[in-house]
Amino acid sequence: MSRIMLLGAPGSGKGTQGERITEKYGIPSISTGDIFRKNLKEGTPLGLKAKTYMDAGELVPDELVVDLVVDRLSADDVKDGYILDGFPRTIVQAEAFDKLLKERSEALDKVIYIEVPKDVLIDRISGRRVCQACGKTFHIMGFPPKQEGICDVCGGELIQRADDNEATAENRIDVYNSQTAPLVDYYKDSGLLVTFDGTIGADVLFDKIVSVLG
Ligand code: ADP
Ligand code: ZN
Repeated sequence: MSRIMLLGAPGSGKGTQGERITEKYGIPSISTGDIFRKNLKEGTPLGLKAKTYMDAGELVPDELVVDLVVDRLSADDVKDGYILDGFPRTIVQAEAFDKLLKERSEALDKVIYIEVPKDVLIDRISGRRVCQACGKTFHIMGFPPKQEGICDVCGGELIQRADDNEATAENRIDVYNSQTAPLVDYYKDSGLLVTFDGTIGADVLFDKIVSVLG
């Protein structure tokens, strides 16, 4: 089992599970959101283009995203598999990815769909804090750092992502429901989708995912 897609709303826990799958199976996680944020930090043209959309909680245009994924998948480290986190987010992206897989004579193995109700999502997103140095994620209520504002792992400063405020989070969830949620049926039809309850706690959820991935 080596090519895995994570599907779920913002705040559903895709990033957390992706990290654990990476650790356990030794395959890289490709997070389009992380790639955009990294580009933004470095001030690249791609990052600057993406910024306006991200800050508003809107999707970055499909063409830009697809080009980025094509480029990322040309690297050596994805030969034995990868986890997609945050891509595809639209039917157009999913179709472009299907085409790309075909060209590469590859197949997707599983789509892990993590389901979480909207009120829980807003709570999780607005309480989320991220380490500026190492990227580790905390939650002010659910998973607080030992010392407020400081990363347990590396001592870095914890910040709130620009798009993690309540208003932008609401919009991201609306955008998810209108543009990304149709992918659930898309992958159900392909027989690859496995649905998980995302409210059961990260450890239990990971055990369940592992039992499906083998
Ligand atoms: P989350 O899953 O918590 O919303 P991400 O880090 O995956 O956060 O994405 C943050 C933002 O990056 C999105 O709101 C969007 O603007 C942009 N983005 C990331 N991936 C995509 C994608 N596949 N298509 C379009 N925009 C994307
Ligand atoms: Zn850290």
